Amino acid sequence: MQKSITSFFKRKSDVPDESPEPKKAPKIKTETEDTKKLLIKTEDESPKAKIKAKPEPMTVDPPESPDAPKSVKVEKDTENKPAAANDAKNESDTENKEADRKVTTIGLVSTSKDGKEDAENYDPSKDSYHPLKNAYWASKKVTPYLALARTFQVIEETKGRLKMIDTLSNYFCSVMLVSPSDLVPSVYLSINQLAPAYEGLELGVAETTLMKAICKATGRNLAHIKSQTQLIGDLGIVAEQSRVSQRMMFQPAPLNIRDVFRKLREIAKISGQSKMDLVYNVFVSCRSSEARFFIRSLIGKLRIGIAEQSLLTALAIALVKKNHIGDCKASKVPEAYKDEIAETTLLLKTAYSQCPNYDIIIPAILEYDIKELQERCPMHPGMPLRPMLAQPTKGVHEVFERFGGMHITCEWKYDGERAQIHCNEKGEISIFSRNSENNTAKYPDLIARSKNFLKCPVESYIIDSEIVAWDVERKQILPFQVLSTRKRKNVDIEEIKVQVCVYIFDLLYINGTALVTKPLSERRKLLNEHFQEVEGEWQFATALNTNDIDEVQQFLEESVKGNCEGLMVKTLDQEATYEIAKRSRNWLKLKKDYISNVGDSLDLVVIGGYKGKGKRTGTYGGFLLACYDTENEEYQTICKIGTGFTDEDLQTHSEFLGKHVISSAKSYYRYDSSLEPDHWFEPVQVWEIKCADLSLSPIHRAAIGIVDGERGISLRFPRFIRIRDDKNSENATDANQVAHMYQSQDLVKNNQKTLTQTDLEDEFY
Ligand code: ATP
Repeated sequence: MQKSITSFFKRKSDVPDESPEPKKAPKIKTETEDTKKLLIKTEDESPKAKIKAKPEPMTVDPPESPDAPKSVKVEKDTENKPAAANDAKNESDTENKEADRKVTTIGLVSTSKDGKEDAENYDPSKDSYHPLKNAYWASKKVTPYLALARTFQVIEETKGRLKMIDTLSNYFCSVMLVSPSDLVPSVYLSINQLAPAYEGLELGVAETTLMKAICKATGRNLAHIKSQTQLIGDLGIVAEQSRVSQRMMFQPAPLNIRDVFRKLREIAKISGQSKMDLVYNVFVSCRSSEARFFIRSLIGKLRIGIAEQSLLTALAIALVKKNHIGDCKASKVPEAYKDEIAETTLLLKTAYSQCPNYDIIIPAILEYDIKELQERCPMHPGMPLRPMLAQPTKGVHEVFERFGGMHITCEWKYDGERAQIHCNEKGEISIFSRNSENNTAKYPDLIARSKNFLKCPVESYIIDSEIVAWDVERKQILPFQVLSTRKRKNVDIEEIKVQVCVYIFDLLYINGTALVTKPLSERRKLLNEHFQEVEGEWQFATALNTNDIDEVQQFLEESVKGNCEGLMVKTLDQEATYEIAKRSRNWLKLKKDYISNVGDSLDLVVIGGYKGKGKRTGTYGGFLLACYDTENEEYQTICKIGTGFTDEDLQTHSEFLGKHVISSAKSYYRYDSSLEPDHWFEPVQVWEIKCADLSLSPIHRAAIGIVDGERGISLRFPRFIRIRDDKNSENATDANQVAHMYQSQDLVKNNQKTLTQTDLEDEFY
């Protein structure tokens, strides 16, 4: 078994967090006790947390009937009183007290007459968890939204990654056994998606809209909600507190997973007042932590630290638990069936990479043996595959060290936009970006001429390629900057100014057959048999098959003269399959301007701006950049930057980022207070950055806990290269990649243990 790259590093969850900023929002735990007291407490000891740690006593009414849900009567609403009182507070207090005067019954608890789990006590993290016995909704067969919210709540309070995954797997296993048709919405809700990523259906409702809905539902005023959010840093928690301490006339019907999911999809599709109304309609039915997670879903950040790979692992473990429900305690399964879990995880991840659609995958895992999954969920045109990625290298010598005597090919590395071009049996063309976003509408010109490059009748295909800007008169490639000026949406073919040429470098599917398990030499042969070049429209990547180091060096120089970034060096026969979703060592990138010690640039998110002085007055003069930690779903600062910008750049950035200023740092920004910028930004833009080297830093937080328990990594002499429009902020350089780049530096390498090749090969991105 190969180990994941992360297993070599100590994760930050394993080390004490010394950051002055709380890593995540302080957590609220609700406890239903026999004494019929319900307290809200916080685990966080930070001053901020203490403010909201004040207990809010409530009395619980006796159940009306054994099966009827209990209700909770609020005796007194002890409003959380921020230590740092602000102007808005006094005004809010009067209004909020008004709201609190209403009679209250909040349905929270279902009866546990037979000792079975009830809603408020549902805890899929406990060691004795039984996926059937503890699924308290078993008799109704409809999963309550509260069961999922409780699961999220427990996960948020969990430190270790394995435990988080295990907890989620317990919940999934219960759903598989009790209410399997809720598994699809449960999975989507756990990663905060509403549909396959490539369909581009996104939530991200503006915080003000949500605040207004919360005010309407709870009687709080907007200034109060805003000040609380600023103080706590999480509108989800504020929503939950407002909801729990609210007095209500009647108890709304409990929410279930299906309805919440359906309504979230509706919310994503509508706008204006009806969007707000629908948010309100669901929110008024939220009880306890449902309010927190419903609001966080709408904001677009769940903050439970479950990203896609963890979710797939949880699903795989749930399947194994389901298979052994009779003969093993759920908590013992991961240990007892290690190999089966490893195999199931691999099969599931592989299938998902070629068919990234839970609407297809989930029914298949419920119905068929996992070994049939790949066959049941085949890749097909119209559904983007996760692209194969390359490892950076620092020179020709490193390439030869890696490939030894294998047959290799070098291809020019074009500097444009990656395009996976699909044609289905109906002749419909779709174009997907590196992130599997649907770019079809951006390239009507390519679609119009898509027949030109067919050498013979072809039913269906998927090609992998790079689209570059093309100078029609000079018949040459133009720099990436020219391509980036092309319109992205609603492109009218008549108005296109920047012409493009497609450089094809791979064929992944032809006439109903997937080719990804075939070696590159064979895929290339089929590419040449079915397609032909058309000058300035469709061309094959310029390639040279050689094992001569001098020839590779010379080819690298030629590629630079041909306006390319360098070379992609690939294995031809041995270890030469197309590795979906992998940053593989079978593809190495050799960039012309690699900096000998770093090897590659980084793609970083701009999260803050410092006002310019002197010549730069009126614009931002510097920015705060962060990498993205996919495991903890947070942005970690890596450097401040003020070089590499022209005056025009600064003007453009200031105008753009000025539109995305937020009043305070997002709670998922990890930074040291000494770095506080003049303005914080939404994480909306990714910049390509080069640097002299990477070093350990006492103030920056990038990859903290991976290489060093207390220090993060920062960039020395960072320089702005360009905006990466093709990457969204969650595709920015990941904390693990930063750690790897740091470790690969000669100076560090000579002093420390580094990753092995096996670790790198197993890294999913
Ligand atoms: P990464 O994709 O590795 O995260 P990145 O997006 O910054 O990094 P690069 O480091 O520039 O991209 O290198 C990989 C990209 O090079 C591919 O995703 C593809 O878009 C582009 N490319 C250009 N020519 C080729 C080629 N001949 N073979 C494969 N990829 C190529």
